[in-house]
Amino acid sequence: MKIFNPKYVYTSNEFLNDAGILVDDDGIIRKICDFQELKAKYPQAEVETWKNMVMVPGGVNVHNHSFQILLRGIAADRPFLEWRDKSLYHYSPLMTKEDIYVGALFCFAEMMKRGVTCVSDFFYLHNFGTDSDYEIIRAAKDLGMRLVLSRTMYDWDGAPSEYVETIDRAVKSTKMLADEFNGKTKDMITVLPSPHSLHAASPDMIVAGHELAKELGTRFHIHVAEEKFEVEQVMREHNGLSTIEYLDKLGVVDEHMMIIHGVYLKPEEIKLMGERGVGLAYCPSSNMFLADGITNIPDMIQNDVLIGLGTDGACGNNRNSVFEEMRMVSILQKAATCDAMCVNYKQAFDMGTINGGKLLGLPVGDIKEGMRADFAGIDLDDLSMLPISENLEQMLANIVYSLEPTAVKNVVINGKDTVHDGIICGISEEELVEKVRDTMKALNAK
Ligand SMILES: [Zn+2]
Repeated sequence: MKIFNPKYVYTSNEFLNDAGILVDDDGIIRKICDFQELKAKYPQAEVETWKNMVMVPGGVNVHNHSFQILLRGIAADRPFLEWRDKSLYHYSPLMTKEDIYVGALFCFAEMMKRGVTCVSDFFYLHNFGTDSDYEIIRAAKDLGMRLVLSRTMYDWDGAPSEYVETIDRAVKSTKMLADEFNGKTKDMITVLPSPHSLHAASPDMIVAGHELAKELGTRFHIHVAEEKFEVEQVMREHNGLSTIEYLDKLGVVDEHMMIIHGVYLKPEEIKLMGERGVGLAYCPSSNMFLADGITNIPDMIQNDVLIGLGTDGACGNNRNSVFEEMRMVSILQKAATCDAMCVNYKQAFDMGTINGGKLLGLPVGDIKEGMRADFAGIDLDDLSMLPISENLEQMLANIVYSLEPTAVKNVVINGKDTVHDGIICGISEEELVEKVRDTMKALNAK
C-alpha cells in the first residue's frame, strides 16, 4: 500500500487540495480522500509527497510506431510517399532484433518523460516473427510502460517483405500473443489485431482482423483515409465506394473498430461511425507534419465518435507527447473552423486521457477508485504553468495550452515510479543515449 499526496489532484473533473490517493500492491487506486484522514486510517502505508505539484492522469497515446523514432529527422519535408520510401522502407528491413528493442526503449522512455503512461504501438516489423513483438514487450517491461501491442496484419507485397505475413500466420501469431498476455499482466501488456490499412491489408486480412478482435473482446486498429491516394484507390477499385463505405461492405464497421486518422471522410461516413460505435485515433501533429490534411473533429464530436489522441511515429510528428497533441487538436481545429469554441481544453484533455483508456479497453485515463494508478505529476513552479489563479480550472487550461515538457516531473505507472524528479527510473539516460548512438552507427553502415 502506498499513499500519494500531491498538492492538487485532478480527479473525475474536479481539483482536490491536499488529498491522499491510496494505491494497493496490484497498482489499483483504492481510495481518494483527505490526506490526513487517509494517513490515520493506513498508518503502515508508505507516503510519497508531491510538493507543489498537480497530479493528473497520465497521457494515453492511442497510436504510435515505436521503431520509427530511430528515423527521426530523416526524409523531413518530403511528400508522403517519398518520406515513406526514403525513411521507413529504406531502414526498416535493415533492423535487427536489438535495433527494434532499442527503438522501443528510446521511444517509450522519451514518451514517459513527457507524461505518457500508456501507449498503443502499431507494430509491423515481422522480420523475426513473434520474436520482434517480444522485443517491444521487453522494452515496455524494462521501463514499466503500459503497452498495447497493436500487432499489425500486413499482406501487401508493394512494401518491404519484412512487413508481410500470410493471413493464417498473422492471425495465429496475434492470437498466441494475446492468449499469453491479455488479462494476465495487471493490464500492463495487451495484444490486439491491427490490419494495417485498406492499401496494405487485403479485404480478407481486414475481415480476419475484425473476427479476431471479436474473439478476443478487443478493438482492431486500422489506418483509414490518411491520404487522398488511398481514398482514390478504394473508389477506383470498388465502384466508387469511399473508405468507410467499403469497410461497411466488408461487415467490419462496428464497436470493434478504431480507425486512425480519418482525414478524408464524407459526412455520411462520420455519421455511420457514430452510430456504430467506431472510435478514432486522431494524430493532429502527424497529419500536419506529413501534409495529410485536417480531420473534421467538430463533426466527429457532434456524431458522438469517441476520439483519442496519438503521437504517431516519431519520424512523422516529430515529438512524442500526448500533452502536445491536446494542444494541437484544439488550436488546429480552431484555425480550420475559425471557431474558438469548437474543441475546448477540457475536451482536448479528455481525448488524451480518459477517452484513450476507453478506446484501448483499459481502466486508465482517470484518477478514480478502482482504476489503475497511472499518474503524471506537473510542477506548478514551472514557468510554463504560471500563473495559477484562484480558479483551479486554469491549471487544466495551462496543462493543455502552455505546458512545456520541463513541467512533467513525476510519472507513475501501475503504482510504480517510472520517472521521478525528471529522471527515468528504468534506465540511465546516459546508457540510453549510448545505445541509440551505437544503433544508428550500425544501421547507417549497412
Ligand atoms: Zn500510423
